[in-house]
Amino acid sequence: MQTEKDNRLPFLDILIERRADGSLGHSVYRKPTHTDLYLNGRSHHHPAILRRHKVEKIHKPPGKLKALLGTTKDKLGLKTSGVYRIPCECGQVYIGKTGRTIEKRLKEHERCIRLYYPNKSAVAEHSLENGHRIKFQDTEIICHANNYWDRVVKEAVEIRLQKRKMDRRRLPSEQYVETSPEETEGGEDTH
Ligand SMILES: [Zn+2]
Repeated sequence: MQTEKDNRLPFLDILIERRADGSLGHSVYRKPTHTDLYLNGRSHHHPAILRRHKVEKIHKPPGKLKALLGTTKDKLGLKTSGVYRIPCECGQVYIGKTGRTIEKRLKEHERCIRLYYPNKSAVAEHSLENGHRIKFQDTEIICHANNYWDRVVKEAVEIRLQKRKMDRRRLPSEQYVETSPEETEGGEDTH
């Protein structure tokens, strides 16, 4: 049984935290012995640095996302909030969640790649840093969830399942693209 300590309770890989005002917050929890489980997706490479290294020449733009999304199996599923998984050509995956529509969030990821905003999207950062093509057209909807905590829990479960899958294929744990905290409602609708 996991117990609350210092007003914090690790639940699956999510650290649920009681704030001073009594409200609850969460972050992805890393047990001290598992600090290397996730690729650190926040290294803040400046676009100018990426350009200097000619990342844009290696990186193949994903093309018109709208056209790509037309081939997604669960097309209607993109119009709701929930948890989703985006694969990269290298075999790594990104598991994310959104309270807006998944379609909107996918477009945001795509835009961040196109405009070199690695800090605003872990997907964009992975693509820009490694020159990898993200397979947006193969995005899978893991579940629909209108409830915030539903999404938090299902995302954590999915990350855990993904980890087991990778272990079976004997890929190093660092192969994960880290999931990022859910964006606040309408908070990143810029650019
Ligand atoms: Zn990749």
